[in-house]
Amino acid sequence: MSAKLIDGEALAAQIRADLAKDIEAIKAKTGSPPKLASLLVTSNPGARIYSRSQAKSCQEAGIAYDLVELPDDTTADALAAKIDELGADPSVNGILLQMPLPEGVNARDMAERIPPEKDVEGITAANLGKLLFYEGAELIPCTAAAAYELIKFAGCEIKGAECVVVGHSPIVGKPVVCLIVNDLGTCTCCHIGTRDTKAHTSKAEILVVAAGVPGLITGEHIMPGATVIDVGINRVPVLDENGEPVLNEKGRKKMKTVGDVDFDSAVEVAGAITPVPGGVGPVTVAILLRNTVRAALAQTG
Ligand code: NAD
Repeated sequence: MSAKLIDGEALAAQIRADLAKDIEAIKAKTGSPPKLASLLVTSNPGARIYSRSQAKSCQEAGIAYDLVELPDDTTADALAAKIDELGADPSVNGILLQMPLPEGVNARDMAERIPPEKDVEGITAANLGKLLFYEGAELIPCTAAAAYELIKFAGCEIKGAECVVVGHSPIVGKPVVCLIVNDLGTCTCCHIGTRDTKAHTSKAEILVVAAGVPGLITGEHIMPGATVIDVGINRVPVLDENGEPVLNEKGRKKMKTVGDVDFDSAVEVAGAITPVPGGVGPVTVAILLRNTVRAALAQTG
């Protein structure tokens, strides 16, 4: 049997549509739309592509987007000063710090300089702490919130469900665990130290995978009928029927984007599954917009 596809694009469109009224209210009150400032301190091509897609998403939603570019050799002091400047600028509602940062600049130190009320990625200790206490957790890490919203969109009842999260990073795996437990799901977290991941995943009614390892989870790891949320984004070569890389017109390896779940085997066992691309990715962007609007609403009263 083939699993139902959980359509991330459809959920993202729904989240964006729900924001329109709040964006209009902010414009009516302040005379300008909510504004997201995105700090790019790298010439990394991936980060540039990501910024362009953020700019487009903001523009489509009616959110102002300022790309603040600093050179690759920016020092920690210079970056800290720029974050402080954006933090103090009343026209900026949200600050996003693009990774990677220059060598020698501590990402955690820089993240903590973002005022929590402008931390639209939900990565400061203050916002992660609010998630533990549950009430008032407005700015939740975008990808973790996306995984949670997709579970609900798929129609799953989290309360009482056996859930497994594979991955324990501070901005994806752990916050997903927190969101599930806050809703009274029973949650196991597997990670690089887990002795037998399959022993856990094969009992999960809801399985969230965020490891950054293509094909880590196959159909054999999944309980029949389970809901599977694949957070992974991995670029891998396209292979021909002999297992050899397919080359593009420039003679380079043709690449494709896959998740952490081996889709072909998983789709035969799961009850519902997110595709990659088209699952968690678009919802993550929609949550970033939602966090920006939430931040602007809180700042404008
Ligand atoms: P990370 O590298 O910080 O963490 C990886 C986690 O996976 C760790 O907790 C590690 O213990 C666990 N892990 C690694 N190998 C494992 C194994 N063999 N068995 C069990 N656990 C294992 O990564 P991250 O930032 O949490 O991102 C995870 C994935 O999600 C990546 O593929 C990343 O590209 C993707 N991601 C997607 C989005 C999105 O919008 N869809 C956003 C952020 C990250």
